[in-house]
Order: sequence, then structure tokens, then C-alpha cells
Amino acid sequence: MDSQTMCRCAELPNVFVGNDENNPFGETLTELEWAPQRWATLNQCPDCQQLWHIDIAKQNDIGVCAKIASRQDWQQLDTTNLKIQLMVQNHGGITNDTCQWKQCNQLCVKGLAFCPSHAYFEMDIKQ
Ligand SMILES: [Zn+2]
Ligand SMILES: [Zn+2]
Repeated sequence: MDSQTMCRCAELPNVFVGNDENNPFGETLTELEWAPQRWATLNQCPDCQQLWHIDIAKQNDIGVCAKIASRQDWQQLDTTNLKIQLMVQNHGGITNDTCQWKQCNQLCVKGLAFCPSHAYFEMDIKQ
């Protein structure tokens, strides 16, 4: 009956591009923490209790929104890892091929000859 009040958390991906000024949540989330020194906010969905990390908008940087398992996880969150996840997701995931980087035996990002961290940090593939 009140399906218009149902949240979209379950259907949203675990990580996606967005920030505090540009995200699909509107005013629906409750802000739990605001950490300007980390350019980060922690928010909670009042419907399903899902925690969401949302980057504070920053010039020349793609922001990320991400599902967070617990408040403690958020305290230790490394947003670079989220950006790597996002890049992998944009490329369609991981293949069974081995990274071409010398002595790296991680699996490749789809369409690339390198694993997520070598693609991101060494080949500068950020998206
Ligand atoms: Zn929700
Ligand atoms: Zn590698």
C-alpha cells in the first residue's frame, strides 16, 4: 500500500559514483557522521537500516557511495579500495587470466591485461 515509501537500497549496487550533492537518495537517509577531514559521511536508511558511505563532493574527484557493513568498518574505510571496486565493476568484473605485471598472480580485470591494483595504480586506469 505504501510502496512509494520503500527504499531502493537493495536494488542499488554496492558501490557507485556519487557524492553528498549528487546521489539517488535525496533526503531519505539519516546522516550519522560527518567527517570533513576524510571527505566522508556515514548515513543510514531509516527503512532498512542499511549504512551508506557517501563522499563529500570534491573538485576533480569522482565521489563514491558504498554500502557499509558496520560503523566500525566505516571508521577504517579506505575509499581508494572503493574506487578500485568501482573501476572493476565498470569493466564488467574479473576474468580467469593472470595479471601481466611481473610476478603478480592476481586475476585480471575484464578487458585488461592487469589485476585491479596494477590497473589502477600502475596503468592509471581510474574508471
Ligand atoms: Zn534502505
Ligand atoms: Zn597485478
